[in-house]
Amino acid sequence: MNDQPTFTEETGDSVLLGTAEYAEGKRIQALLDERGIQVTLASNPESCKKGCKITVEVFAREKDLPAIREVLEAEKSRVFDGLEFDPELANEVYDPERGTARCPACGTQFSTISKECPDCGLVFGID
Ligand SMILES: [Zn+2]
Repeated sequence: MNDQPTFTEETGDSVLLGTAEYAEGKRIQALLDERGIQVTLASNPESCKKGCKITVEVFAREKDLPAIREVLEAEKSRVFDGLEFDPELANEVYDPERGTARCPACGTQFSTISKECPDCGLVFGID
């Protein structure tokens, strides 16, 4: 392998880590980002957009895989050690009557005038 165009660095060797719930994907992304590892979240067109959990596909660069595995293993053991999980947030419901809503994916509070989370872009399809 000789010099390759830099864009292959971005896309060429990315591998699918797996599918995760949106919030989990974001959390893993932030976690890895702290260690300088970049992963890409791609929305999964197969997943339904209303009334069920939103999932994303998590892509990473192949060369980062050993490091990612290490991070996620450490993360897993911490789950049993009382990792902060906010069940309230998971149950947040987009209610236009309330004026403000909390995004169930990232926790950002925003006005219900907007049907899209300003932080993570999650769209609340209200018909
Ligand atoms: Zn959000």
